[in-house]
Amino acid sequence: MFCQMLIFKKSQLLIRRLALLREQNKTIGFVPTMGALHDGHLVLISTAKKACDIVVASIFVNPTQFNDPEDLEKYPRTPEKDVDALLGVGCDILFFPGEEEIYPETLDLPTFDLNGLDERWEGAHRPGHFDGVAQVVYRLLEIVNPDFLFLGQKDFQQVKVVEQMLRQTDLPTVVQTVPIQRAVDGLALSSRNVRLSKRYRAIAPQIHQVLDFVKKEIGHESVSHLVALAMKRLIEAGLKPEYFAVVDPTTLQPVTQYDENKGAVIITAVWAGEVRLIDNMLVV
Ligand code: AMP
Repeated sequence: MFCQMLIFKKSQLLIRRLALLREQNKTIGFVPTMGALHDGHLVLISTAKKACDIVVASIFVNPTQFNDPEDLEKYPRTPEKDVDALLGVGCDILFFPGEEEIYPETLDLPTFDLNGLDERWEGAHRPGHFDGVAQVVYRLLEIVNPDFLFLGQKDFQQVKVVEQMLRQTDLPTVVQTVPIQRAVDGLALSSRNVRLSKRYRAIAPQIHQVLDFVKKEIGHESVSHLVALAMKRLIEAGLKPEYFAVVDPTTLQPVTQYDENKGAVIITAVWAGEVRLIDNMLVV
């Protein structure tokens, strides 16, 4: 089969192309990424392919969401491999902008009220991170204006923040969340996994095992006891948990007692040596 994908670096050209497609009543699905693509990203593209006529992916390592300059510098970048991977799953359009396209000097970016969703967990440990996320997603949506935005449950808090941002705009885009894709040993796929040493790659699947354990026990033991056990197991495995919590899926506030009518999400961030990993599990 002959596949082709259009690659746009300039937003104006992309906007024009998408306007033509919209005139033909094509539905547009959008998958924003920071590149270094793995199967987790590619499942987002295939899910979008099934739901939409045209799939647009973007690759942009957004500097404003990195609070640590070293993390930004070390973020893996594999553009040629990414293009092949996107072709392989039938992505129609790649938007691969430079910084000047996303943040032109004349741009007046709005700020959003993230309703405290940005202050907890990832937000508490990465100051300014979610302001950067909300603004770059807004900016990309302004350009792509898709019918559907596909986001990974892997970044659960990010999904909540983006939904909160969208409520404050006139953008018509609907968010679709795609389940977490994992390696066979349970480690959530992440662009950062390539930076794990052999030792930490072997230990890191413990994160999934501990999440699974807490999910199974959640109706039977108190939440605080389970969280303490989880922290202990992660530390004993050789990992450094930054946080481990059971939270309300809407407000992201910690829950002290599991309420099966509301459900919960178990969320964690863990240092595996020099690499910071996040993971979560829905309890429904
Ligand atoms: P990133 O390139 O890390 O910004 O991720 C781009 C998109 O891919 C986000 O919506 C992520 O939540 C999603 N994603 C990353 N890893 C996974 C995974 N293992 N499973 C599902 N979605 C993922």
